Amino acid sequence: MKVLKFGGSSVANSENIKKVLDIVFNTSKSSKVAVVVSAFGKTTDNLLAGANEALKDITGAIEILETIKELHYQVIDDLISTNNKEVSKEVTALFNRLLSIYEGVFLLQELSDKTLAKVSSFGEKLSSYIIANAAKELFDATHKKSSQLVITNNDFLHAQVNFKITNTNITSFFEENEHQVTVLGGFISSNIEGETTTLGRGGSDFSASIYAAALNADELQIWTDVSGMFTANPRVVKQAFPISEISYEEAMELSHFGAKVLYPPTIQPALRKEIPIRIKNTFDPKSSGTLICKDPKNSNEVKGISHIEDISLITLEGGGMIGIPGFSKRLFETLSQQKINVVFITQASSEHSICVGVYENDASKAKNLLDETFNVEIERKKIKPIIIENDLAIIAVVGESMKNYQGLSGQMFSALGRNNVNVRAIAQGSSEKNISAVINKYDAKKALNTLHEQFFEEKTKQLNLFITGVGNVGERLLAQLQQQKKFLKDNLKLNIRIIGIANSRKMFFDNSGINLGNWKENLENGEPATLDSFYKKVKESNHRNSVFIDNTANQEVSEVYEKYLRESISVVTCNKIACASSFDNYKTLKRVSKKYNAAFLFETNVGAGLPIIDTLKNLINSGDRVHKIQAVLSGSLNFVFNNFNETSTFHDVVAQAQKEGFTEPDPKIDLSGVDVARKILILARESGYQLELEDISNNAFLPDKSLKTTNNQDFYNSLTKNEAHFQQIFKEANDKNCRLKYVAEFIDGKANVGLQHIAVDHPFYNLEGSDNIVLFFTDRYPENPLLIKGAGAGADVTASGIFADVIRISNQ
Ligand code: ADP
Ligand code: ASP
Ligand code: MG
Repeated sequence: MKVLKFGGSSVANSENIKKVLDIVFNTSKSSKVAVVVSAFGKTTDNLLAGANEALKDITGAIEILETIKELHYQVIDDLISTNNKEVSKEVTALFNRLLSIYEGVFLLQELSDKTLAKVSSFGEKLSSYIIANAAKELFDATHKKSSQLVITNNDFLHAQVNFKITNTNITSFFEENEHQVTVLGGFISSNIEGETTTLGRGGSDFSASIYAAALNADELQIWTDVSGMFTANPRVVKQAFPISEISYEEAMELSHFGAKVLYPPTIQPALRKEIPIRIKNTFDPKSSGTLICKDPKNSNEVKGISHIEDISLITLEGGGMIGIPGFSKRLFETLSQQKINVVFITQASSEHSICVGVYENDASKAKNLLDETFNVEIERKKIKPIIIENDLAIIAVVGESMKNYQGLSGQMFSALGRNNVNVRAIAQGSSEKNISAVINKYDAKKALNTLHEQFFEEKTKQLNLFITGVGNVGERLLAQLQQQKKFLKDNLKLNIRIIGIANSRKMFFDNSGINLGNWKENLENGEPATLDSFYKKVKESNHRNSVFIDNTANQEVSEVYEKYLRESISVVTCNKIACASSFDNYKTLKRVSKKYNAAFLFETNVGAGLPIIDTLKNLINSGDRVHKIQAVLSGSLNFVFNNFNETSTFHDVVAQAQKEGFTEPDPKIDLSGVDVARKILILARESGYQLELEDISNNAFLPDKSLKTTNNQDFYNSLTKNEAHFQQIFKEANDKNCRLKYVAEFIDGKANVGLQHIAVDHPFYNLEGSDNIVLFFTDRYPENPLLIKGAGAGADVTASGIFADVIRISNQ
């Protein structure tokens, strides 16, 4: 004998029911089959909605009833032959009874649990009857009313099964029953008096397990709309996959903590008889699904992760509890007497507080009951009034062999911490089959994906990027990311997704990753952007491993880094303003980055893509000390002075540098030496020295009038006016056979920048185009400095430097 259960979506319409009949017929060729069916699709929800509507308005209830009828008559039309009038007659009689009940509810203005059970039983009554008759037309089949077999107590909506009577009923019926296939409704039962009861929402799984155990079935098959029990709810975690084998206990834990694919009480009856349970997909019958059994073959310590949303925490707290027995007994007694389900318990060893998780629906009722129970102690201030916290979720990591493994809970909580998921309470059963945590429900999706990545996808890491500034550098970065995507996935097991992009006017988000084929168009049609609205969206989208990238040179953007870091969102920037701002601010960003475990990287602040800051970091981290830095750090000034001579004008050379993308958007920042001063400041700070921008002496070569201009146009005009001044500077150097280089120096704690005459034998003399060069004199490189040289400006190299920072984050 095999028991096959088909859930609501498996029997949602005629087309699906045909698939079900196929599966049943194939199985029945080699075995007798008991088929347990749910109500069609969402019928149970609709029946209950109708009953609630009837309390207010009978016409509304009738409308809902009409949609239920329509679905059922459609199935009869499609699957029952026209000369069989009996079926629609019987179904019409059932609908008439249901209408009378709705009318009764409306007239009496009363909807008891007993009536709710009666109303909701119609779904399975109808579905099992119709499917049995459709089956009869194809093969040897019969229908049996579940309510005549499954007998329970009077708890109408969550009835407790009387197994003794139920098992006898089932075995004696099937002993007599000759038919190869028997169709039964799930979920429905009755009490000793013959009144309808139900086994709880989702209870058809349980019915099927009851039949399987009573009949000593070879196998219980739960047919549903997914291909097994997944490592996490596949609707929330895209990367989840079916678990091939799992133990009864593990399956029970997963379902208890929210894996809806199996109603939690289902396991018990099957487990008692050690009947294997197979979870299968009606829409993909060939996929192997999940086998729940005693000794599963599967080596993973963590089997799955489940979660329940809409949880509240109830805390009973106060010094008066310490050492006095009976507080928890009274707490649990009160809750259980009122049938409030406790999902989760923790108690600190100090006994100062006890904390339980309940479903949010039950929370305020629980609080009132407990305030009453502990009324005397609360009045005497021995304990505080009961505290309720809402909007929480529980996540549970489940696996039987976790107990043999050290460090799993450490991994779980550090992964959550890295992604700024605040853990409110923790419980670990002593059996260590499960470690559960209570978190904010808005973090549930992120937490599940984080843990799934941690325990099941170690091999590929996902980074989620939020990019502001998609001009020169940003555009190149997007192009490089697109080009390297496949390589990174295949070779570094790194999946980089761009979730949000923005320029100064617009922003565009796609939570599953922006298609880089047409981002420009999407951005143009995107929402209006401000720094704040962008930040809000990033925060709302709440992705793990998030990185904010600033490709601008904007002061205001540089001021938002701290907010991101505090959300554990890493920051990568080519914008120098933050690191060159006050030392306090620089230090704060570093400290916050450390505290919230979010990287703050700015390799491109000095020398674009050249590995200058990273090299310096490695020197310092390995114990070296910097004494002196000499550098040409302005690709733009280098370009300008390499091209400027008596045959050109200063104005034209600067304009050319800007056109080729070698200057800041405001070229004065480069020409005034401010940009170089910022760079040497950053290098000095990264070397461990405390310096402010004002401490750097700047031997500027621009005339005062040029320095005082306030826009690019005026600036360029002033260059033309002062051509003679620039020619003079050139001549002085040229006469000495020297070249002009804008040099930055840091020596023993002091820094200066300025134009210098560089003679032929100096390593700076031959610096080409927009190249940069840095010489580090350190303990380990005292005479012969460590030298880094190469292209130090330009969108492509800057973008690749940012890209390298992103990859650094993925390696952390
Ligand atoms: P049925 O109507 O067949 O009883 P349910 O809706 O009750 O189906 O259960 C199947 C659903 O359970 C899936 O569609 C999925 O959304 C949800 N689910 C939650 N957690 C899991 C999990 N770990 N594995 C598979 N499905 C899950
Ligand atoms: N039809 C019932 C419900 O929706 C039982 C079930 O489908 O398992 O809760
Ligand atoms: Mg179900």
